[in-house]
Amino acid sequence: MSLKVENLSVSFSSGGHTVTAVDHISFEIPDKTIVGLVGESGSGKSVTAMSVMQLLPPQAVLSGSILWKGQNIMGLSNTQLRSIRGSEMGLIFQNPLAALNPVFSVGNQMIETIVLHQNVSTARARDIAIELLQKVQIPDAALRLDHYPHQFSLGMCQRLMIAITLSMRPKLLIADEPTASLDVTVQAQILTLLNDLKEELDMSILLISHDLGVIAQNCDEMLVMYLGKLIEKGKPSELFKHPMHPYTQALIAAIPSPFSKRSEVTHVLKGDIPSPLHLPSGCRFHPRCPKAFALCSEKEPRLEPVCGREVACFLATEATSNSR
Ligand code: SF4
Repeated sequence: MSLKVENLSVSFSSGGHTVTAVDHISFEIPDKTIVGLVGESGSGKSVTAMSVMQLLPPQAVLSGSILWKGQNIMGLSNTQLRSIRGSEMGLIFQNPLAALNPVFSVGNQMIETIVLHQNVSTARARDIAIELLQKVQIPDAALRLDHYPHQFSLGMCQRLMIAITLSMRPKLLIADEPTASLDVTVQAQILTLLNDLKEELDMSILLISHDLGVIAQNCDEMLVMYLGKLIEKGKPSELFKHPMHPYTQALIAAIPSPFSKRSEVTHVLKGDIPSPLHLPSGCRFHPRCPKAFALCSEKEPRLEPVCGREVACFLATEATSNSR
């Protein structure tokens, strides 16, 4: 098991208020698997990713444990964390331009990283950089190595960031909305590439997206997050066929079909995700849930095993106990 997150909570204090962005979540990423994390903006997906990388600001208060290869990385020193980040865990995020240094050539940035992480000569590092650029399908790789980030398109910059991250040969790649700013064709290319590289480099991937289609097509396991809580976990094929949590049902129902007319697309999820400063009582989803009943505003449902998956909804757990 590469990564095991147990009972992770993350809170931030500001202006006399405490906001819990992630609340007692647990999940695992086995070797060579892609686990997808979905949810609306503000659900806690990116805070989860930054917690795993231990890149949250110092005012964040974390509890629980994050086990990487059996070792709890929470509480490790910065020096110990630096040796895990990059060489063991890599992060790619939505905006590649924020990760690329505009004043250094791409080759400069890649070669330095490769020398540092793979302990090879500069000449060998240059060859590895060219191979990596070819792997991420940058044409004329040897020539492009001497170009600067502004000379690449956004899609190419995203591939460059993947190449730089992969030059550190991570065993776990955290990809936070890696294709959100790209057009559909480039998006498909990047996702195919990540899948290929997972096989080739024996990597595991935590793929964070608000796009359920992306998760369905690429992941072995799917985690659905709402207001800091995991509310459904299972195989994407099963969750898509038979979503049990009303929030997952609403997310899936809101995916537009290419065959439906614009007027037929029903967005069944009403309202916005509430502020974590004012969490609803009971089930956090109850103010927006079309199936809510009296108990839902009084008691918080726990994430429990139901038919080969886990669901946090009284209706799902009740239906199973009634059928026993
Ligand atoms: Fe809806 Fe109640 Fe289930 Fe929450 S517990 S999802 S409010 S039915």
